[in-house]
Amino acid sequence: MRTALITGVTGQDGAYLAQLLLDEGYRVIGLMRRSASSDVVGERLRWLGVLDRVELVDANLIDLSSLIRVIEQHQPDEVYNLAAQSFVAASWQQPLLTGTVTGLGAANVLEAVRIVRPKARFYQASSSEMYGLIQAPVQDEHTPFYPRSPYAAAKLYAHWMTVNYRESFGLHASSGILFNHESPLRGIEFVTRKITDGVARIKLGLATELTLGNLDAKRDWGHARDYVRAMWRMLQQDEASDYVVATGRTTTIREFCRIAFECADLDWQRHVRTSASLVRPAEVDVLQGNADKARRVLGWVAETSLEQMAAEMVEADLARHRARARGLTQPAAHAPARGPSQPAGVAPQQPAGLGLIQPAEA
Ligand code: NDP
Ligand code: GDP
Repeated sequence: MRTALITGVTGQDGAYLAQLLLDEGYRVIGLMRRSASSDVVGERLRWLGVLDRVELVDANLIDLSSLIRVIEQHQPDEVYNLAAQSFVAASWQQPLLTGTVTGLGAANVLEAVRIVRPKARFYQASSSEMYGLIQAPVQDEHTPFYPRSPYAAAKLYAHWMTVNYRESFGLHASSGILFNHESPLRGIEFVTRKITDGVARIKLGLATELTLGNLDAKRDWGHARDYVRAMWRMLQQDEASDYVVATGRTTTIREFCRIAFECADLDWQRHVRTSASLVRPAEVDVLQGNADKARRVLGWVAETSLEQMAAEMVEADLARHRARARGLTQPAAHAPARGPSQPAGVAPQQPAGLGLIQPAEA
């Protein structure tokens, strides 16, 4: 049985990747940092019904010794580095922490792999944010980077360290340059989930309006469930490499509002307000990816449309708020749209606290 180690297993992608790898027959070791709120830490894994099947181990990306210990103990065949301070807006408030975790943290994982388990295959969660002030209308693996936030600068360091460890030490280290991907498990501070949560609150009479920042920004949004498949396929190749993962379609925040509000038969223009306080110090105006290489080499395509994803997210947020209103931690009869790897008839468990986090930007 192959063993995979996932850092950031408690996050959105970590949960979907754990589910995929378990379905593929892996033993999955999930690295999580110690938390005083350990009762809610596994919510996303619980929601997908895989919490009991992931072996959770304590370690922290900024503590190299803890990473070495975990890798020594579990001897993983594949290491997926998904852990990060991943919220762009917060990276201006905590630039040093972001650099330490998102940048140097990745170097720590690479070092631990190089020292203890150099045969393990390594995946780095790189980001389309590295393109920042875009140098080409559609971005691919050859497009120059121009980071526009401390987050993007930290990701760029981690990306080049991944390339460097591949070239210097011969590690099987691949970097997935993933464009934005969302799901019902997306952190509520990110704009899509903030919108679908807002739609649910407004629909259920819990709120009347939703305040956002820049509505003109454009993103190439896909579904996290589709994107973790690309991560896994990268590590199944004989040669390590870097891949853009994207849908190729770009959409404004304004248009996403329209789509999401329509899922609940609401007119977004009656409810969405904007506030200058939510506009970022430097913006990434538009991102649109070209995933031809992933299609050609990995046989990967995005399977979920933006409309399907928005509908799934709105439905899940409606169910969360209805359950909460009834004083339940789980909705009684709600099963969000089933993903390809989710067994038929199994209703995902609902995260009790995922909606409780208040958007940091709001
Ligand atoms: P999340 O923010 O949902 O998850 C981040 C994870 O990192 C959490 O499990 C978090 O743990 C963990 N983490 C944070 N700091 C540390 C630390 N010091 N030590 C150990 N673990 C830590 O991110 P996503 O799942 O959305 O994204 C996964 C990765 O992909 C991230 O690196 C992100 O930057 C990158 N990415 C994401 C994109 C997207 O659109 N989602 C696009 C491109 C790249 P805890 O639960 O304790 O907070
Ligand atoms: P990012 O692309 O990783 O920064 O993902 P986000 O979902 O945080 O932001 C996507 C885009 O939405 C950015 O251009 C933001 O400026 C824009 N945006 C507009 N209003 C908001 C808001 O209220 N919250 C967030 N998070 N983003 C917003």
